[in-house]
Amino acid sequence: MNDILPPESTRWEWLEEKVRVLMDRYAYRNIRTPIVEPTGLFVRGLGEVTDIVEKEMYSFEDRLNGEQLTLRPESTAGVVRAVVEHSLLYDGGKRLYYMGPMFRHERPQRGRYRQFHQIGAEALGFSGAEIDAEMILLADALWKELGLTDVRLELNSLGQPDERRAHRAALIAYFEQHQALLDDEARRRLHSNPLRILDTKNPAMQRLVEAAPRLIDYLGEKSLAHFNVVQTILSESGVSWTVNPRLVRGMDYYNLTVFEFVTDRLGSQGTICGGGRYDYLIEQIGGKSAPAVGWALGVERVLELLKEQGLGCPALVPLVFAVVPDAATLPAAMSLMQRLRSLGVSVQMHSSTGEGMGSMKSQFKKADASGARYALVFGSDELARGNVLVKSLRDGSGLQVERAIEQVAEWASALQSDR
Ligand code: ATP
Ligand code: MG
Repeated sequence: MNDILPPESTRWEWLEEKVRVLMDRYAYRNIRTPIVEPTGLFVRGLGEVTDIVEKEMYSFEDRLNGEQLTLRPESTAGVVRAVVEHSLLYDGGKRLYYMGPMFRHERPQRGRYRQFHQIGAEALGFSGAEIDAEMILLADALWKELGLTDVRLELNSLGQPDERRAHRAALIAYFEQHQALLDDEARRRLHSNPLRILDTKNPAMQRLVEAAPRLIDYLGEKSLAHFNVVQTILSESGVSWTVNPRLVRGMDYYNLTVFEFVTDRLGSQGTICGGGRYDYLIEQIGGKSAPAVGWALGVERVLELLKEQGLGCPALVPLVFAVVPDAATLPAAMSLMQRLRSLGVSVQMHSSTGEGMGSMKSQFKKADASGARYALVFGSDELARGNVLVKSLRDGSGLQVERAIEQVAEWASALQSDR
């Protein structure tokens, strides 16, 4: 679990702001659910035989009533719980997004942490394939907005439960034939959740998994048509993809379209975003049956990829640094600074030691180090004339002009537009 400190936290805020603007363009609205949910929600929602539920959840007992609780390992189940609890679908579908920390007890490594952050989008109450496409286009637009390249889209369709049943039988028969090549986990899952074996992280099993029966070959006409609509919309919008028949995702709740955005630039933790349709989860969690689709991206991985590509935001610096030669002028200085800030100017104030304000030299040194573009010098002579000195720090000119405190509104906007 990591502390996120400045200036790194500035990059987080920058990314979050880009997401907010983009979500608004697609008419997705923010939802905030608790970080703790009843354990049963995740067991029912994600599936008992999944990596998350079997070994990654941080669960504990509520000390008052003995209720089993879990730090959320993902947010879809919580969003669905909230949607059901508040009957959010009573007047039609809802487009929602969230950002926040998730918790999984995994082996920490690059791109894999125990507290990590996801940004996710969920569209609930919509059955049309165009919403699957909208979701994918939304994520794709985000990569473009951020300037990310080297991200490829993998698509698959998991079909419907009846189609999965036929495939499941074939899959079990196939893996039974190759029992010797299965690892312990796969052997354990063979009869409880054979599809999960396809999601194995064990490199030794990749060949076996690659030759396994493909779910896509078991899809009926309706599922294929749904998948086709998604692909047609994507190609018309200039988004390219590959179909990956092994893509099954880590939770049991998916059906029909599933997808992942993957990069080769982050080593083995290359999936930056994953999602799909989950038409049975709402009912599973106790709501009235309704279709839905969603995705979640890993914030740490996206930020790492941005860094890898030399992208991100410029460091934050104050526009103005206030130099206060004499403590006696502090009240006047603070009052003007407050005014400047209310006009939208960022001002960093020089701070005194217990001994006094410090020399001008040391104050200017601090002003330089702050990265500010201007120093505002509150000399007592200038103040006596009702003025303050504005000194340019960045353009090398050292230009300084006296400005009337009374007319601060005018020169404040000039400072800002000068950026
Ligand atoms: P992986 O296969 O890498 O374990 P996952 O299938 O478990 O990923 P999801 O549950 O689909 O991941 O979560 C969506 C995204 O959240 C992932 O694509 C990834 O970018 C990010 N993510 C998942 N687990 C972690 C983690 N432990 N640390 C950092 N990011 C993570
Ligand atoms: Mg995982």
